[in-house]
Amino acid sequence: MIRQAKGKTPRRLPPKKASNSQKDPVGVYCRVRPLGAEDEECCIEVISNTTIQLHAPDGLKANRNGEFKETQYSFKKVFGIKTTQGELFEDVAKPLVEDIIHCKNGLLFTYGVTGSGKTHTMTGSPGQGGLLPRSLDMIFNSIGPYQAKRYVFKPDDKNGMEVQNQVDALLDRQKRDSQTTVPKTPTTRRIDPEFADMISPEEACKADGVDEDSSYSVFVSYIEIYNNYIYDLLEETPIDPIKPKWNVAGTPLRNNTEFIPPQSKILREDQNHNMYVAGCTEVEVKSTEEAFEVFWRGQKKRRIANTQLNRESSRSHSVFIIKLAQAPLDADGDNVLQDKNQVNVSQLCLVDLAGSERTSRTRAEGSRLREAGNINQSLMTLRTCIEVLRENQMCGTNKMVPYRDSKVTHLFKNYFDGEGKVRMVVCVNPKADDYEETLLVMRFAEMTQEVEVARPVDRPICGFAAGRRQRNQAFKEELTRRLEERGGPLDGESPTVLNQLLQSFPPLPPCEISGPNDDVTLPRLIEALEKRHKIRQMMIEEYNKTANMLKSVLQEQDSNLLSKENFIQEQRGKLGEKDKMLQNQKNEIDRLEKKSKMLEYKIDILQKTTNIYEEDKRSLQHELESREQRLQREMSEKRRMEARMQGIVTDSKLKWEKECERRVNAKQLEMQNKLWVKDEKLKQLKAIVTEGKTENRQPQRPSREKDKVPAKRSASPSPVPTGPPVRPLHRRSHSAGGERWVDHKPNTNVDLDTVLQPNLPNAIKVNAPSEKALSKCDKYVLTHQEVASDGEIQTKLIKGEVFKTRGGGQAVQFTDIETLKQENPVAASRKRRSSETGPDGEPKEGDWTDVETRCSVAVEMRAGSNLGPGYQHHGYPKRRKP
Ligand code: ADP
Ligand code: MG
Repeated sequence: MIRQAKGKTPRRLPPKKASNSQKDPVGVYCRVRPLGAEDEECCIEVISNTTIQLHAPDGLKANRNGEFKETQYSFKKVFGIKTTQGELFEDVAKPLVEDIIHCKNGLLFTYGVTGSGKTHTMTGSPGQGGLLPRSLDMIFNSIGPYQAKRYVFKPDDKNGMEVQNQVDALLDRQKRDSQTTVPKTPTTRRIDPEFADMISPEEACKADGVDEDSSYSVFVSYIEIYNNYIYDLLEETPIDPIKPKWNVAGTPLRNNTEFIPPQSKILREDQNHNMYVAGCTEVEVKSTEEAFEVFWRGQKKRRIANTQLNRESSRSHSVFIIKLAQAPLDADGDNVLQDKNQVNVSQLCLVDLAGSERTSRTRAEGSRLREAGNINQSLMTLRTCIEVLRENQMCGTNKMVPYRDSKVTHLFKNYFDGEGKVRMVVCVNPKADDYEETLLVMRFAEMTQEVEVARPVDRPICGFAAGRRQRNQAFKEELTRRLEERGGPLDGESPTVLNQLLQSFPPLPPCEISGPNDDVTLPRLIEALEKRHKIRQMMIEEYNKTANMLKSVLQEQDSNLLSKENFIQEQRGKLGEKDKMLQNQKNEIDRLEKKSKMLEYKIDILQKTTNIYEEDKRSLQHELESREQRLQREMSEKRRMEARMQGIVTDSKLKWEKECERRVNAKQLEMQNKLWVKDEKLKQLKAIVTEGKTENRQPQRPSREKDKVPAKRSASPSPVPTGPPVRPLHRRSHSAGGERWVDHKPNTNVDLDTVLQPNLPNAIKVNAPSEKALSKCDKYVLTHQEVASDGEIQTKLIKGEVFKTRGGGQAVQFTDIETLKQENPVAASRKRRSSETGPDGEPKEGDWTDVETRCSVAVEMRAGSNLGPGYQHHGYPKRRKP
């Protein structure tokens, strides 16, 4: 902001690095121009409205061995080849114009290689006006009715703005009008067809919120920076015939025309540390056409200078500065307030930079090479400044930014250091030839986007109640209407306020003097005039009183309003802060929401996975259980089977053991009998043979028999008789009833309390068998106890017959085993009951009850019977051998 700080303390805050902490990045836009020729190779593709993609041209790719890949660059916005000048203006320059109208500064520059469309973008051509004519047009469309009369605002020579009083301004205007050389404002006609139709009327636009209680004036300056020299393109060079016609570099001119080489200007810093070109022409313009005409004059001058001085226009920077001065109207709303401190000046700087290509690309030679080097130097400095700025901002460093190294950057210093909006349009030509240069442009542009510039703050310039202009207008209209109502105009005269007031006084008496002696008319006239004078005096007093009163009321209201406005301003600031905070929080919420959505989604997936796994687990568990059950079943089956098998095995083992024993015994007996029979026969034969010789000799037992006698006399009965009986086997007569038993009950036997006891009358009871007892008896019974397979005690009565052995001893031949068994009726329910041994029923009556029968059966069964000995006592008829 360039404004006055002279005199009284300004009511507003000083603009330099104000308390404003809000910053905005430099707005970088990219514009891609169409290819020149159809068959040219293209190396740029617009892939979205913010991104472009560069791809190396074919030749380059082959050379660099694929070193250059496709690269993408993003900008605030990308404008493709079909973008119109109007569309570009809407996005890029319109906000800057709005800013300048609201007292904020702006800088807009185009950057790019020569031929990329910088000038086309900034200036344009007839029918296709660029950003510059459009900006001017918008400014004038907005402030048109509120412009101050020419020369009311007057720039001083220190980059300030003064307000002239009405009279001085009028005098200046008259002076200007008298100078025929200065062209008048072209209100209706278009002077130069070159800038005709830059903007079509339907494209005209206007800023909102223009303060109608201010007065405005536009000033333009146009400078060129070439070889680090500043030239004023609007300077009116007086024709100086004495001055030699040399250019600044000391080279003589091409031809000897009246061309006067321009003098370079210097940069200065004003009181507010703003840079300005000292002594630079600032032309006040009142319309778009006039402004553009001034611009065109500068352009022409530039062209001529370039031709005359053999310069290349693409190597110079051109800067067009639009200054807008605005000041509030006075309390009446009639004139600009005569207070320098109330003047606000904002400016929009439109810069068409030189081509950014390196020197090697231009065919510059000699002094032109030097110049070109310098031109490159300014762009280099611009790059360095941007780099340092970025580094300072990003790393918090405080390096010195080398603005002073070139005029261009020095002029821009205020924008980067102070406040204002900075925008850059990067122009690119998509042709393959420009590829490498375009890459450099892109890198610079990307870097520039990272630089931030302080946002300009709002500063309303109002010091009085708003709506002054309108109120004044309305008042004037109302007054005119009322006066017209009162009297109407005099003949041929326009109704003036004076006329109307005169009419409101009492009429004058006739003032024609009838004669020299007429001393009535004059005194009457004097009296009437005095009366009028008195009335007038009274009216003036009344008027003054009312005016003063009104003034004080108005002032009071003004101060009220001012304080309210200040308050509103304060609140607005606070609101802005709150808004920012809110926005930040909103962003945070958005981010968290996105995150939570993501997490929810993940949870969902995990839930689903868990469900699947659980299902799997359940089914597997189910299977496991069923398998376990099956295993259990199989195991118990196996155990049962084992137990059964065990039983069967022990049973059959026992059975067969007994069977074997029995058979062996039987065989032994049989063999012994046979032996005995043979012995006997042999004896008889011997007796027959020897009868005659020794008739009285007693038959002798064979020696073999004699040897065995001691064995036969063994007291313990052996289950198998070892010695043959003395006489052939025959039973003692039972009929006699004198059957005697040796009842052998070993001491170890347990008394089982059985009901059924063997009844043996006159038996000899022994614990251990003795020869004595046996010799007296012919029957033997052993009561033997043992544990059966089911765990019950079973009693066996082993019966036998006592034989007298030849040796005079006793032998027992076992004939029968009777088994008595007790059973637990509950535990052994599945077991067969030994009905034969039960106390009731028919046990003693069957064939089996008879011991004799039993024994015969036993004997009969001996030969080849399959049945085990145990079965002999279980008298099932079917099991009996027929
Ligand atoms: P620079 O100023 O960057 O050297 P110019 O603006 O002079 O480039 O453009 C070179 C040529 O290309 C001009 O003839 C111009 O009309 C043309 N041109 C540039 N940009 C465009 C565009 N966007 N559309 C059509 N023509 C263009
Ligand atoms: Mg150009």
